[in-house]
Amino acid sequence: MNEPILEVSDLKVSFRTYAGEVQAVRGVSFQLNKGEVLAIVGESGCGKSVTAQTIMRLIPTPPSVIKGGSIRFNNKEITRLTDKEMEKVRGSEMGMIFQDPMTSLNPTMSVGRQITEGLIKHQGMGRRAASSRAVEMLKLVGISNPEGRMNQYPHELSGGMRQRAMIAIALACNPKLLIADEPTTALDVTIQAQIIELMKKLSEQMDSSIIIITHDLGVVADMAQRVIVMYAGKVVEQGTVDELYYDPRHPYTWGLLRSVPRLDSSREEELVPIPGTPPDLFAPPAGCAFADRCAYAMEACFAADPEPTRLTRTHSAACWLLHPDAPKVERPVLTGGAAR
Ligand code: SF4
Repeated sequence: MNEPILEVSDLKVSFRTYAGEVQAVRGVSFQLNKGEVLAIVGESGCGKSVTAQTIMRLIPTPPSVIKGGSIRFNNKEITRLTDKEMEKVRGSEMGMIFQDPMTSLNPTMSVGRQITEGLIKHQGMGRRAASSRAVEMLKLVGISNPEGRMNQYPHELSGGMRQRAMIAIALACNPKLLIADEPTTALDVTIQAQIIELMKKLSEQMDSSIIIITHDLGVVADMAQRVIVMYAGKVVEQGTVDELYYDPRHPYTWGLLRSVPRLDSSREEELVPIPGTPPDLFAPPAGCAFADRCAYAMEACFAADPEPTRLTRTHSAACWLLHPDAPKVERPVLTGGAAR
């Protein structure tokens, strides 16, 4: 279980624009173990999607540029592969589920063909074998009348069906790594729950490792074993789901947990939004990037960026409050998603 399939070390990704360089990912490190589900959470623009898409090398270069670090996946250094080599890895060893299936499925190809193409190209299957595997996949993701759906086009399916079809495409080649970028955001609540349930079941059945990118802490609690919290292009806290929900240490994680509703609460609880906005990544601050929004900010926070402090084997957070000489502060009452 603890054998890594993916190791990201000190990854730095920037975008070159006319206005200057946007430092979207600023030294991200984490590991994903075989069979594990890891969630990456944070506000829009925190670098979570850029990190995921860089792992799959899906962001065009230029404008993006990998400024440093490494991505080791299944004994390969992803940053050094040619486009052709990477296409092969993407087709056979990695799969991706996007937020909006309508824009990521090919509207001009039948659902069946979109599944069989990858099987023929990357797995060397004949047309007939690929076709029966495609039917099997559609059945597995809970699509009724799979034989009939093979000939349908994306616009003929409902939103939930399209997302199921995309999961079928992503998993058809039995990838070792599945990245799901906000997979339920575009769906209504009841369908969201079904899709989460489906992904959970399939990840167990197929033994794929999963990275799920989300801003929805409910999805995290339901699916993941470990969580990474990102802010302004950096990892500010990481730990197991229990560590993050029951013993969060970073003020930004506190803010996230206080700003989501809790379904099991019998009391009326007030949600507390995080004030302010993330910093400009054209010119990130020298100190802690959260300092302008943090109620606990001290002089040191504006002067230098804290390194991660290891709290347990699995839990770490980057905050000056964890320094032995820092003043002791009371963690706020986490009325939000803190209780699972
Ligand atoms: Fe707040 Fe300082 Fe910790 Fe940053 S380092 S989160 S500003 S207390």
